Amino acid sequence: MSGLRIPLEGPDGSGTAHALNLLAPNPSPMTLDGTNTWVIGRGEDVLVVDPGPDDPRHLARVAEHLRDRRVVAILLTHGHHDHSGGARAFAGLAGAPVRALDPRHRLGEEGLGDGDVVVAGDLELHVVGTPGHSFDSLCFWLPRDRAMLTGDTVLGRGTTVIAPDGDLADYLRSLDRLRATAEQVGAEALLPGHGPVLPDPIAALDGYVAHRRRRLDQIRQAREQGATTPREIVEIVYAGVDRSLWPAAEMSVRAQLDYLDGS
Ligand SMILES: [Zn+2]
Repeated sequence: MSGLRIPLEGPDGSGTAHALNLLAPNPSPMTLDGTNTWVIGRGEDVLVVDPGPDDPRHLARVAEHLRDRRVVAILLTHGHHDHSGGARAFAGLAGAPVRALDPRHRLGEEGLGDGDVVVAGDLELHVVGTPGHSFDSLCFWLPRDRAMLTGDTVLGRGTTVIAPDGDLADYLRSLDRLRATAEQVGAEALLPGHGPVLPDPIAALDGYVAHRRRRLDQIRQAREQGATTPREIVEIVYAGVDRSLWPAAEMSVRAQLDYLDGS
């Protein structure tokens, strides 16, 4: 059993037996409550996944929490700033390398990619390549807790967007792969990059796939009604959504148009 830790309020302090979320103070419509920084391991040796934005108070809080424990490596689920911005500064505090798929975000010799196994003490993290939200998105499977760290591929609330450096066809394949993996290994929790822990991985992934298919259908229909530009489509499909989210919606519509038009 994963022994889910679910705090009374918000995602800070949530997680599983060997994964603890220290929430960064950068809430926004795009980042929900803020970025989840995950500390993996309870022993001497730990891994830190996504140090978050370059916020000295947050990084100091994470370092303070770790005290004398050794950070074996800092891992990035992807290179977007709200996850990676503080990596370099935190590497300085922790004396640890930064491993990421994108070489531009690495510090040290080692990269990170599908199939890699990262070890800290007696814990393992298995890297699952899940491009789509961004070209460099990775998930990390923590067998000990039957938990999957999902970065922005699956969020704790709402749905994610396909960023300009992402791809919807890749994303749909990644969701299928995550679902198959979750079923095969008996995953009991998804630990997202933003928002609360998801205790039912299969239901969450099915919900994501269904949502994408629904949106694609709505976009097809909006086009049949005469909408042509991404903005016009947003005004129809996202009419019920808060306008502060429309720029993100427009980005998502662009990705979906690319997908529908096969480019
Ligand atoms: Zn993010």
